[in-house]
Amino acid sequence: MTALAPAPIAATAPPGIRPYTAYVYAYPHKTAYRPLPDPPLLRDLWRGERKDALSLYLHIPFCEVRCGFCNLFTRIGAPDGLTGRYLDALERQATAVRDALGDDGPVTFANAAFGGGTPTFLTASELERLCDIAEHRMGADLRAVPLSVETSPATATADRLAVLAERGATRVSIGVQSFVAEEARAAVRPQRRADVEAALGRIRDARVPVLNIDLIYGIDGQTPATWRTSLDAALAWRPEELYLYPLYVRPLTGLARRTALTDRAWDEQRLDLYRRGRDHLLAHGYEQVSMRMFRLAGTAPRGPDDHACQTDGMIGLGCGARSYTSALHYSFDYAVDMGEIRGIIDDYTATADFTRAVHGRPTNGDEARRRHLLQSLLQAQGMPVADYRERFGAGPHEDFPAELAAFAARGWLDQDGAGPLLRLSPEGLAHSDALGPELFSPAVRAAMAAYEAK
Ligand code: SF4
Repeated sequence: MTALAPAPIAATAPPGIRPYTAYVYAYPHKTAYRPLPDPPLLRDLWRGERKDALSLYLHIPFCEVRCGFCNLFTRIGAPDGLTGRYLDALERQATAVRDALGDDGPVTFANAAFGGGTPTFLTASELERLCDIAEHRMGADLRAVPLSVETSPATATADRLAVLAERGATRVSIGVQSFVAEEARAAVRPQRRADVEAALGRIRDARVPVLNIDLIYGIDGQTPATWRTSLDAALAWRPEELYLYPLYVRPLTGLARRTALTDRAWDEQRLDLYRRGRDHLLAHGYEQVSMRMFRLAGTAPRGPDDHACQTDGMIGLGCGARSYTSALHYSFDYAVDMGEIRGIIDDYTATADFTRAVHGRPTNGDEARRRHLLQSLLQAQGMPVADYRERFGAGPHEDFPAELAAFAARGWLDQDGAGPLLRLSPEGLAHSDALGPELFSPAVRAAMAAYEAK
């Protein structure tokens, strides 16, 4: 391994701007969803929508442990046959949703993903059943489209991986977070490095084309040297993809910051580790896809890209999954607290009628413009201005003059935002989590602010 590049010249965040406000992996965020008055029938929502290149997402809300940084919709363990009841409900939902998609035109899926939680919390035979639901109930041809599956070191067992590989998985993503035992403990994800390395070996043995490894920076006690240890340990596997996540401490999660760092110093630590990590991966043959995502040069995408997966035409199955039509995003209720999550999962497994959307937010008009801009601008390759103009009839500078002028003034836009491609500068990309939230609409901001975490 080559040495990590020298410490980057410290370009700090502009005064008053916190670089880590929110990870915009979906817009609008679920905390802006509300119970839908007079819940609409799915059949009505999907009538007239394009259904020939849908995304399919199946959500499995179970994990062996609850990591301290995690605010995903998941619970610890599954007592008394809960996974079986959950798959029963998933099958009922899939049947109802496929029926609602109708037969007035072609219904085909262009990609699929199993996420969570930890989908490989399920046993090998339960994973077979999950694939059957996707194929036989929904009609997805899993062996013909990219299929991405999330896993964890303890659950990435040979029998489960064999099922996934045989059923067509093209990408396995494993959350390692840190190869340093003390850091894993500090992030409340205790694990032994030997177990992580063994899991990575099993994934490689399963010959799934794309391995993705998730790492986190900004953990209590993490230094440039220990960060490099984790980066090099990951690079030793030559993963086709790497995600570098800044640590967030979010309400109701298990992580309490025990660091003496002030907010500002923690921001600077994360920015510094981000730049070091980015430069190290770029020096080792990776290309940057977004602030978090890096891909080994020459690797074809085999799953959704960061941000880009949030396209219209998404079918989400499971109690934490979102679905998107062109005019409405919907899901079930959302929570982070363990007790609330358990209650929502129990309600889901008892549900007999899956024919209506119950919780969501309209996304037409102004929101569609914001969504398009966010999805494209937060990717390193940027957004062709002509594409935006063709879809909306006006350019992004006409729709968002104040926001784009502010970004340009801070040096966050390539060529100050001029030219046919609206693209972030390296510093703009580094500040994706500050820039993204500035593009939220006032209505979405107000709904998120009024949301009471539970
Ligand atoms: S980070 Fe992953 S493994 Fe950890 S609790 Fe969240 S979903 Fe489960």
